[in-house]
Amino acid sequence: MTFQNFIGGRWVDACAGATFENINPADTSDVIGTFPRSTPDDVNRAVASAKKGFDIWKRTPAPGRGDVLRRVGDLMSARKDDIASLMTREMGKPLSETKGDVQEGIDTAYYAASEGRRLFGHTVPSELRNKWAMSFRRPIGIAGLVTPFNFPMAIPTWKMFPALLCGNAVIIKPAEDVPHTVTVLVELLLDAGLPPEVIQLVHGHGEDAGAALVQHPDVPIISFTGSTETGRIVGEICGRMHKRLSLEMGGKNAMIVLNDADLDLALEGVLWGAFGTTGQRCTATSRLIVQDGVHDSFVSMLEKRVRALRLGDGRQADTDVGPLINRGAVEKVERYVEVGRAEGAELRCGGKRATSAGLDRGHYFEPTIFTGVKAGSRLEQEEIFGPLLSVIRVRTPDEAFTVNNDVKYGLSSSLYTSDVSLAFRGLNELDNGITYINAPTIGAEAHLPFGGVKQTGNGHREGGWEVYEFYSETKVGYVDFSGKLQRAQIDTGNA
Ligand code: NAD
Repeated sequence: MTFQNFIGGRWVDACAGATFENINPADTSDVIGTFPRSTPDDVNRAVASAKKGFDIWKRTPAPGRGDVLRRVGDLMSARKDDIASLMTREMGKPLSETKGDVQEGIDTAYYAASEGRRLFGHTVPSELRNKWAMSFRRPIGIAGLVTPFNFPMAIPTWKMFPALLCGNAVIIKPAEDVPHTVTVLVELLLDAGLPPEVIQLVHGHGEDAGAALVQHPDVPIISFTGSTETGRIVGEICGRMHKRLSLEMGGKNAMIVLNDADLDLALEGVLWGAFGTTGQRCTATSRLIVQDGVHDSFVSMLEKRVRALRLGDGRQADTDVGPLINRGAVEKVERYVEVGRAEGAELRCGGKRATSAGLDRGHYFEPTIFTGVKAGSRLEQEEIFGPLLSVIRVRTPDEAFTVNNDVKYGLSSSLYTSDVSLAFRGLNELDNGITYINAPTIGAEAHLPFGGVKQTGNGHREGGWEVYEFYSETKVGYVDFSGKLQRAQIDTGNA
């Protein structure tokens, strides 16, 4: 199939006519379709159209904008299974996970719809008599959204729905490995009654279409999710251009298992956290920090279960772990297996591509565990983004907290303990945007703020109530009905 951009209210090819292929990572002979490889010319056209869209949409009352998003949620619910299936085909994760990804979009739509009747400002007392003082929220303009491959529906909706609810027009550049899911999302928005110029879809590669969007002077808001390396490039440009920028970037998330933990519970948690989505969640458990007293028994319980995980096409019901997204991802995990060996860590299982019959057609890698990983080593510090878990042995809870915090990232952490005081200390002292107690490092809910500290983010949050502040501008209004000149600060003493 041939897919197109959506620009100027129409489905169109890229100006230069170039295309790229969308390939099923479970079977590289399965080409899902060709998509336009856009250039700066396409982005320019998208911006011209989005300006018209902004003019229409900013005047639409926020509850009316919310109604459109509620209908998107309804349409998405009706097509949940079919969207999950096409998402698994282009991204690889099992159907149970892609259904969860769509559900996140549905929840985000309904949350956004309800926000249309809030978008709270403040009304506060004035210093002066017969004068009111209040703040309210205004749309900003065109929001440029650049998204990664691992949540093909959830992450675009996290950005797009609040941006739209706040009255902005949107241009989205989805990850080149998963262009189909966002194409369907745009179809749903149009079916739900969004004025066509309000949304533009520009497919293509990061260095041309993505960079052109980030650099466009008439796009004042950029929201980016992806690697810390790409985020740095995006951040430098937006800083120079004084853009409003939200960055959600890499992670090196840890699960801590203390001596008093429920080991059976922790075992289910680490299996899901480390190998769900083939380790390609931003919140995936990449480090397992285990206290001395339970280290050996817990590692042997874990190894047994990891060896039993079933790799396969995510559309088959018995698959636990799908393929990695592309060949580059497989090569990256392979390189880190070599790093681990060179650093003296012990490879307990996995460590190589899975090449048995059927799996040789896709980007499969065996679930891998290294033990004896040293705090401070590359394996322990760097984001790998694959099914590779590093186990670090610690003596005390304090040492566990120090190891957790001693990385440049700070997205999520998890702490398994039955000591309530340690649990609360963990919430206070673990340097992450999200900490889970007795649950894995993954599992964000749509109505809470999501994001990380240090080099994972730049202080903004997706999701929940906070994201609406990012996509709208605070305006303050004073209404003086005293009928005379009143000078704030200067004559507050005058009765
Ligand atoms: P990536 O950085 O390779 O790409 C992300 C997006 O940026 C893609 O759409 C890509 O085309 C675009 N891009 C690439 N170069 C660009 C440039 N020069 N200018 C503008 N856009 C450009 O990331 P990925 O491999 O798709 O995703 C994996 C990464 O995303 C991991 O590091 C993961 O931790 C991170 N991630 C973070 C979160 C979070 O919320 N913190 C969520 C999901 C993924």
